[in-house]
This record gives sequence, C-alpha cells and structure tokens, in this order.
Amino acid sequence: MVELNAPRNRKCLRCGREEEWDDSVHGWTVAAEAGEPYCIHEWDVNGTHPTIAE
Ligand SMILES: [Zn+2]
Repeated sequence: MVELNAPRNRKCLRCGREEEWDDSVHGWTVAAEAGEPYCIHEWDVNGTHPTIAE
C-alpha cells in the first residue's frame, strides 16, 4: 500500500510566508505570515508528495 502523505502546510524559505491546505477550496490559504507578495516563493516541501491527476 502506498500511503498518501500530502503536506498540510508549507512555508516559504525566502520570505517566511506560511500557508496551509484548505480542503474546502482545494487550495492553499495563508496561515500566518503573508510574506512578500512579489517573492518567488520557494516552499519547504519537496516534490515527493503525489499529486492526483484529473
Ligand atoms: Zn516567499
């Protein structure tokens, strides 16, 4: 069995923006710090978590 372990939150390594996953909108919402709006965010989650194709 493959256990899906999608990240529930993430933080930008550059500006400190923190977001959490919102199931109701299927998207990321700001959890704490909004960070820098013009930052090219680099999240502290890597690409190993599976994404489900439509
Ligand atoms: Zn950022």
